[in-house]
Amino acid sequence: MSEWSLIYGDFNAQEEPLREALCTLGNGYFATRGAAPEATADDIHYPGTYIAGCFNRLKTHLAGETIENECMVNMPNWLPLTFRIENGDWFDLDSVDILDFHQELNLHQGILSRTIHFDDGQGRRTIMHQERLVSMEQPHLAALKTVLRAENWSGTLEVCSALDGRVTNSGVARYREFNNRHLSPLKMQSFDDNILLLEMETNQSHIRVAQAAITLFSRQGESLPCPGEYVCESDYVAHYFKTGIETGTPLAIEKIAVIYTSRDRAISEPAGDARQAIQETTGFDHIADRHRLRWKQLWDQFALNLSTHSEVKDGNIKATLRLHIMQLLQTTSPHILDLDVSVPARGLHGEAYRGHIFWDELFVFPFFNLRIPEITRSLLQYRYRRLDAARRSAQAEGYKGAMFPWQSGSNGREESQTIHLNPRSGNWIPDNSRLQRHISAAVAFNVWHYVEVTDDCEFLSSYGAEMLLEIARFWSSIASYNEEKGRYEILGVMGPDEYHDAYPDASEAGIDNNAYTNVMAAWVLLRALELRTRMSSISYTTICERLQLTNEDFNRWADISRKMFVPFHDDGIISQFEAYDELQEFDWEGYRNRYGDIHRLDRILEKEDDTPNRYKVSKQADVLMLFYLFTAEELRDLFTHLGYAFEHDTIPRNIDYYMARTSHGSTLSQVVNSWVLARSDRPGAWPLFCQALSSDVDDIQGGTTQEGIHTGAMAGTVDIIQRCFTGIETRKNQLWVNPALPPELRSLTFRINYRAQMLDFHLTPLSIRISADASSEHPIRIGLKQAIHELEPGQSREFAL
Ligand code: BGC
Repeated sequence: MSEWSLIYGDFNAQEEPLREALCTLGNGYFATRGAAPEATADDIHYPGTYIAGCFNRLKTHLAGETIENECMVNMPNWLPLTFRIENGDWFDLDSVDILDFHQELNLHQGILSRTIHFDDGQGRRTIMHQERLVSMEQPHLAALKTVLRAENWSGTLEVCSALDGRVTNSGVARYREFNNRHLSPLKMQSFDDNILLLEMETNQSHIRVAQAAITLFSRQGESLPCPGEYVCESDYVAHYFKTGIETGTPLAIEKIAVIYTSRDRAISEPAGDARQAIQETTGFDHIADRHRLRWKQLWDQFALNLSTHSEVKDGNIKATLRLHIMQLLQTTSPHILDLDVSVPARGLHGEAYRGHIFWDELFVFPFFNLRIPEITRSLLQYRYRRLDAARRSAQAEGYKGAMFPWQSGSNGREESQTIHLNPRSGNWIPDNSRLQRHISAAVAFNVWHYVEVTDDCEFLSSYGAEMLLEIARFWSSIASYNEEKGRYEILGVMGPDEYHDAYPDASEAGIDNNAYTNVMAAWVLLRALELRTRMSSISYTTICERLQLTNEDFNRWADISRKMFVPFHDDGIISQFEAYDELQEFDWEGYRNRYGDIHRLDRILEKEDDTPNRYKVSKQADVLMLFYLFTAEELRDLFTHLGYAFEHDTIPRNIDYYMARTSHGSTLSQVVNSWVLARSDRPGAWPLFCQALSSDVDDIQGGTTQEGIHTGAMAGTVDIIQRCFTGIETRKNQLWVNPALPPELRSLTFRINYRAQMLDFHLTPLSIRISADASSEHPIRIGLKQAIHELEPGQSREFAL
């Protein structure tokens, strides 16, 4: 990597799936994997184009059941563009003789390029330079430019440019036994000898998607009329062009494509609008200029710079952070503001988890909150629109209020699968992950923190309060009073650690009193009660009347918030769940020696006819999530309110205890661990941060990134820099700063948006400088070291640390 680029100096078939995911280009509306334009899906290549929020359901008969899965649909491939020289073979990277290869993802410009010098096997050498983009300026637009220079030959060149709807959702090997053909053809057309149109429809959700593409030829800036021969199959359209090429004279081929769907706003019908847009389109260079400008503006808003001490290798750190920011913006850009979408856990970059939306929002939203909070607001509205579905889910399980689904897709129904494949053993096993009721607490947490950052009272009274109150109502109804304990408890759930879905040898799924879930439930109830003083009395009364909430509800909530049970063992260790301490210790060393990579212990143990349920092993941070989400002060207040002693020195003991018992089978885990270590100010934080940072670029889970990036880990690592090392907190209507740069960092510069005011931060180990934008409306109050400081608009102040 260089500071602003991801660079590959060779073609490596084995790494290609990973590179395709990392080199994905997108704009929030849609994204296309970095697959080569000449490639079709096979063992090496997997072209994929995904449009945010476009899901389809398919049923499959498998393992004796009828299973219905909802998937983010792999849309027709707009990329196909290939060529052949004088009736030779069509260009194929896997069969030509590659003399030189350079592929580069320019993070600043959002442009993917590759230059290949090759010999076609008959001694004809050619240099191909290709650039592509998915426009950040015009969300429906993508463009590909290919420049070919014949080095030692001249002759006829045949070019094929196509729109390929023969695609399926087959990017994830584990899902291949499920039905995967989501699209049916509607319309195939050719216009003006160089425009193609393909319209298809998802076969259950009936979303129509239209793509149109124009192919243009030019030589030395002069356009070259070149009529195409039209070929049409039932879900594939192509133009075949023939043109001459002369030694040393570059030939440019531009393919501009547009995508519209029937979910779009301000359109008549997708095919008509696609056709109109393609006929009005300009050339690649103009599109690229507009696109670069938009990226430059985004980078101004998302600026983040750091320098490390000379002995620390920082080149990759900066570039990887920028890659993360770029990929997050490609998944969720300002173009989603008008869309009904949220952030798929694996981005718009692949098909893992079928494009579903999880609690990973908890890791992603803080990144957007402090930069473009309008994005978070829009993502929260995705949840609000599914509040009724969450109410129905609660009711179906015998609860009140709103219970959000563990995996969410089109309409807010629970989309978690009921069985999943262990690729190690080939067994289909029950999937109980839907018992992760803590997802609803994450939604409430996100609502609260969005409002803390923005003070968006309108959002709170129109949407946020209703979600928070309904989620509180759910926690109140799922909690039951245990006379013996004199406390409330929550039974039969799963915590964030997915390795524990039942007690050993139990016939029923679920564990009791997951500490994280219980504490979060108490926190939600407290925040719901706080709404009374947070909102105008008229808004508050209106919403409570509408929801028919009574004093009886509020009294119960207050009671639960004081008496929720939290299990402990070993003098101050918070038990991950009740009776966790009775589980067996695990032979970590033995398994590491035997298997090497033990990230996915669940799969290893299941193959051995064993289960992690028997051991003190966690897939990911669970109890430690509490130290991640709350400061020590907030936790002390929470535990004190619950009537439990909370000694500060138990934090490092809890961290050590659980870190020694976690396999990090989720990339979220290292984010949490490095955060909590950094907070407790320990030298181990930096290596863990670096590991979390390399989750995707180095594909540390061994093959998962090719199925989609990990948006939670990407955002979480940027957020470690943004909030953890700086101690930025937005709490009680106040911005707090409490920097603790790790010894490896020399300086840190970035910009945040707090309550519609832009603030620039510059930190060194010894000082912090904060500058308020001159356009700020009023002074900003900043809490630092127990004191409150005021910053006038345009003022810059430096504080010694
Ligand atoms: C993790 C979950 C996460 C999901 C999607 C799973 O492996 O255990 O916590 O929400 O991946 O990223």
